[in-house]
Amino acid sequence: MLPFRIGFGYDTHKLVEGRDLILGGIRIDYERGLLGHSDADVLLHAICDALLGALNLRDIGFHFPDTDPRYHNADSKVLLRDTYALVKAKGYRLGNLDSTVIAEQPKLNPHIPAMQAVIAELLETDVEVISIKATTHEKTDAVGRGESMIAQAVALLMKVE
Ligand code: MG
Repeated sequence: MLPFRIGFGYDTHKLVEGRDLILGGIRIDYERGLLGHSDADVLLHAICDALLGALNLRDIGFHFPDTDPRYHNADSKVLLRDTYALVKAKGYRLGNLDSTVIAEQPKLNPHIPAMQAVIAELLETDVEVISIKATTHEKTDAVGRGESMIAQAVALLMKVE
């Protein structure tokens, strides 16, 4: 078997008033936040699913069920760290990660370096291999009306043990 595995992750969360916006492991000043059982960090959730998918380890809901009170308002940085521990336990390390966040507002580009730094630290790697892109839905559909955000991620893992 080749020493590489690729995984894809997708997630969406609704944007509502009265919640902090937590995205890519950082808090972003905005009038609304993502709704979910955990902190609803849509980008970190997509990355978790990309890592899990690469090794055919089911999905984030399987490992961290939203019916479990331990994950109520959970910090998704902890979920990502725990997910990466599963990857390492299988003898793999991250090669590189590419992701896209689709959000009408707020403007995400100024925040991308801070997100890259947090994610690189959690995945024990360099920011150089953590790509985060931002786009909008051009004012169409629920994302375009600012009612929700979507994140997608692709991860390449390399066997090291
Ligand atoms: Mg989620």
